[in-house]
Amino acid sequence: MAHSISIERTVHPKQKPAADQLGFGKYFTDHMFIMDYDAAKGWYDPRIVPYQPIVMDPAAKVFHYGQTVFEGLKAYRTADERILLFRPHRNFQRLNQSNDRLSIPPIDEDLALEALQQLVLADQDWIPSAEGTSLYIRPFVIATEAALGVNPSQQYQFIIILSPVGSYYKEGIKPVPIHVESHYVRAVAGGVGTAKTAGNYAAGLKAQEHASANGYSQVLWLDGVHRKYIEEVGSMNVFFRIGDTVVTPALNGSFLAGITRESVLQLLRHWNIPVEERTLSIDEIVEAHANGTLKEAFGTGTAAVISPIGELFWQGQALRIGEGQTGELSAKLYHTVTGIQKGTLEDPLEWMVDMTKQASVLK
Ligand SMILES: *Cc1c(COP(=O)(O)O)cnc(C)c1O
Repeated sequence: MAHSISIERTVHPKQKPAADQLGFGKYFTDHMFIMDYDAAKGWYDPRIVPYQPIVMDPAAKVFHYGQTVFEGLKAYRTADERILLFRPHRNFQRLNQSNDRLSIPPIDEDLALEALQQLVLADQDWIPSAEGTSLYIRPFVIATEAALGVNPSQQYQFIIILSPVGSYYKEGIKPVPIHVESHYVRAVAGGVGTAKTAGNYAAGLKAQEHASANGYSQVLWLDGVHRKYIEEVGSMNVFFRIGDTVVTPALNGSFLAGITRESVLQLLRHWNIPVEERTLSIDEIVEAHANGTLKEAFGTGTAAVISPIGELFWQGQALRIGEGQTGELSAKLYHTVTGIQKGTLEDPLEWMVDMTKQASVLK
């Protein structure tokens, strides 16, 4: 289906940052995508415009009641100058699941994907090519109706912005120490933990601050009811290799269904490695550590892809995992997933969307 998305090109292209200065989410490209919603009209006026501030009424509902959702995915430039997206359909499916939970009207997933591709093509010169770099894509929806009643907004904006990002691991993939959080919780089943919505992240800052003041990179979240079952690590899903089996918490309605999580599970099954999605308690991890079967632990998410855990701090005790080194399977997963994303490895599970054909037509 062809959608007519208007394009207004910038007359003041920005200076692009040097590849070694990129960091994460610090620089934004020349253009952005916007589409409006009104209850009477539905979604309308999809457009690509120069990157610019958005002006909103101070009574806009997003500021007061947090009616907002977001997504995060990446575009990659391959060595042979192709532009690849990693499973973008899954992100827009999830955006609509988040929308549904926050009472935000659904967005046509085909239109969203087309908007994303046209925007990436408009700013394709911003896609970095160095090892580990990519163009981070941040779609989001905000409730813009100016009214202080607590009910679903009658107006919204769907926006996509782009940010060239550097290598997550400047000195190679490296395990991080993690603080197991026993006081604060992130979400409970029935709440909004399964939606990518702003409040979840604001709610997590306190624990993250505390962990970081004590020298830990992130927190491992336990369930909100028993403070016992493992949920996520920071804003990543979490996996443990216990003996020869890889275990990850089953989707239970209180944490996010990561697309990297899903992809890692697919890859492990493709390799015939035993995997289990089930409830997993912190006690089981302590026991596996004590009896020597806890071989590896790692987080999964779009930003870092695979983030190995070198140490878990729990109830005054530091559990070192794999002598603080990156495990064999963690490294293999990291190299395989990033290789597929960068187009240097075969894509056996057909994850990548190659935008190159459209690129040559539209350039
Ligand atoms: C985005 C996110 C993840 C990871 O999802 P991916 O699709 O793999 O990037 C995991 N947990 C939380 C809370 C998240 O926000």
